[in-house]
Amino acid sequence: MKFTAAALLLVAPLALAGAVPKPERKITYDGYKAYRIATHGDAKSVKGKLASFAVVPFNLNTNEHFDVAIPGDEVAAFEALGFEAEVLHNDLGADIMTEGTFAPYQEVSAQAVPSLSWFDSYHAYADHVKFFNDLQGAFPNVSEIIDIGASSQGRQLFGIHIWGSGGKGSKPAIYFHGTVHAREWITAKVVEYLAYNFLTQYSSDATVKAIRDTYDIYILPFVNPDGFVYTQTNDRLWRKNRQSRSGASCVGTDINRNWPYKWELTGGASTDPCDETYKGKAAGDTPENKALVAFTQSLTNGKGIKLYIDWHSYGQYILFPYGTDYIQDVAKAEFAWTIELRPKGSGSGGFVLPAAQILPSAIEQWEGMKYLLAVI
Ligand SMILES: [Zn+2]
Repeated sequence: MKFTAAALLLVAPLALAGAVPKPERKITYDGYKAYRIATHGDAKSVKGKLASFAVVPFNLNTNEHFDVAIPGDEVAAFEALGFEAEVLHNDLGADIMTEGTFAPYQEVSAQAVPSLSWFDSYHAYADHVKFFNDLQGAFPNVSEIIDIGASSQGRQLFGIHIWGSGGKGSKPAIYFHGTVHAREWITAKVVEYLAYNFLTQYSSDATVKAIRDTYDIYILPFVNPDGFVYTQTNDRLWRKNRQSRSGASCVGTDINRNWPYKWELTGGASTDPCDETYKGKAAGDTPENKALVAFTQSLTNGKGIKLYIDWHSYGQYILFPYGTDYIQDVAKAEFAWTIELRPKGSGSGGFVLPAAQILPSAIEQWEGMKYLLAVI
């Protein structure tokens, strides 16, 4: 299978007198059609038949189905193979274009809560930072912005810490990570909605008050900010971080495969820097993992971690350990989950989820979290 890049669009740089700017290459997926192919437990046979196609694979666990994007000029040949398949995107490039039409950030006055219209659209990274600063600024006595370190390109790994009547840092942690995989845009929006409601509904909802008075809440919306920015500037389907390594021709390490626990085991991660699941040269050797390990350990050494959730997309299911093993075994979280958000797949897209589904995705997770946190 040729995992080639999609059509390359040369973005014309601004010509400045005397400057020779380096052209930025942006990958579009114009004309690509995406499918969910039923594998019936035999992904090898499906992949074999696709060996000559320039497919873009979406999922790693292909036991039941293999989700792929096919270039427009290969669609007829692909359909002639007669796979049992459903369409995820008729034109992936068109759907990316629609998704990437961001609403402008609605500025708020000092100590005012950002508008709920934030959840009607996706946004640029800089606006996400603004959103968190504004949201925290509206609740200065019960929250703070936290900075746990820097990414490989020097971006702040920021988050929000929210507490209740016990005061700052007095209770076990509810701890969320978003956007470890850069292309999973819906995860940031969902954890933002959770943070928004934990703050705005304390006075009006007895369940929220009880949760806040029982736990300290720590939400890191972008544990892979460099990758996220890259999905907005260059390649919407980028997954890893943007760390360059000497001697490696490819960029990026899968932060989710770099945790320093049982890192040396084979299977489930790759030693090839060009692979989507590249695990790094050594356990925990990405700047992001170093910062995450130190911060997670500080929570463990504090009041402990009651519940950790690593938010991903897509598929709509919950994964229990083992899979997030460091948080479970080393950080000793009582519960450590991975939640895969919308879409489920068939007929409803993949990583590129229409903006109209942001709020429904967020609301269903908020209702689930309220129930969960009241019973655990
Ligand atoms: Zn993921």
